Amino acid sequence: MKALVYLGPGQKAVEERPMPEIINPGDAVVKMLKTTICGTDLHILKGDVATCAPGRVLGHEGVGVVEKVGAAVTAFKPGDHVLISCISACGICEYCRRGMFSHCETGGWILGNTVDGTQAEYVRIPHASTSLYHIPEGADEEALVMLSDILPTGFECGVLNGRVAPGSTVAIVGAGPVGMAALLTAQFYSPAKLIMVDLDANRLELAKQFGATDIVNGRECDAIVRVKELTDGKGVDTAIEAVGIPSTFLTCQRIVAAGGTIANVGVHGVKADLHLEDLWSHNITITTRLVDTVTTPMLLKTVQAEKIKPELLITHRFKMSQIMQAYEVFAKAADTNALKVIIEAD
Ligand SMILES: [Zn+2]
Ligand SMILES: [Zn+2]
Repeated sequence: MKALVYLGPGQKAVEERPMPEIINPGDAVVKMLKTTICGTDLHILKGDVATCAPGRVLGHEGVGVVEKVGAAVTAFKPGDHVLISCISACGICEYCRRGMFSHCETGGWILGNTVDGTQAEYVRIPHASTSLYHIPEGADEEALVMLSDILPTGFECGVLNGRVAPGSTVAIVGAGPVGMAALLTAQFYSPAKLIMVDLDANRLELAKQFGATDIVNGRECDAIVRVKELTDGKGVDTAIEAVGIPSTFLTCQRIVAAGGTIANVGVHGVKADLHLEDLWSHNITITTRLVDTVTTPMLLKTVQAEKIKPELLITHRFKMSQIMQAYEVFAKAADTNALKVIIEAD
C-alpha cells in the first residue's frame, strides 16, 4: 500500500509499505476513505516532535471502513464505517478511568507519532473498541474528518477549559483550523462577544462568516489596544491561545480581564514568558491541555443535528496520489488560503 512517510527533518516521501496487520487482540485495521493534514504534521516535519522517528507513516485524523478486527474487538466489525480519534484510549488504565485519554498509559497521541498513522491506504488502530466511533448512516463523512482532532481540540482545550459562558467575552488569538474550531464550538454557549485576532485578512473574513462578532487584524492595529476598546477597557473573560508562540501567549496575558481565563491550545516549541508581576493580583486562571477527545460523541450529535457545520473548514480536496501536492498547499496556507485539506482514497 501507499503511505506518506516522515524521513527526518524537512524530508517526506510516498512509499510502498506492507499492509498493516493485527498485532494485539484489541487492534483493528481500517481502510482509509478520507484523511487530512494537521499543523502538528508540519511540526513533525520541522523536527519539533522528538517522539516521532524517521520512517513513521504520518497522520492522526480520518474516516474509513473496518477491514479486519482482532479477537478482543467487540464494538466493530468488518464493513463498519468509522471515525478515527487522534487519541487512542485503552479505556481501563488509571488515566482513561479519569477521562484523561490523552495520557492513556498505552495510548494517547500515538497515531502518526509512535505508531504508523492515517496518511496511508490502510492503518492499524490500537484499542479499536475505545478509539473508533461508528459513523451514523447518511452522515457527511468529509465533515466528520474534522472531528478526529480539530473540533474536540478547539472545544476541550479552548472553550471548555476557557469556561466560555453565556454573555461572556471571548477572544481567540489565531484563526487557524483549531482557532476556527474554537470559534464554531464557543457558539454553543452564546458569548456576548467573540473576537477573532489574527494577521491574515482572509482568515479573519472567514471568521466573520463563521460567527465572530468582531475581527482584529494585528497588522492594521495594536491588537491589545483594540480588544480592550471592544470590551470597555476591561479585556476578555476568556482568551484562547491558538497559535503556540511566545508573542501570542503574551497577547493573551495582556487582554485577559480580571477574573478571566487564558486557555492555551497552541503547541509551544520554545519557552514563553509569564508576566506574574502584572497578573498575580488579577484572579486569572491559566489552563493547558492535550485533547482527550471525551467530547467526540457529543460533537458527533451536534454535527448530525446541524448545530455546527465543520465542513466550513474544508478549503481544498486531493486524492491520496496527490498527497505531496496537498502538503504543499497546506504548508503555504498564507498564499493558498488553505484551512483544512481533505485527502481522499484514489
Ligand atoms: Zn492534529
Ligand atoms: Zn488507557
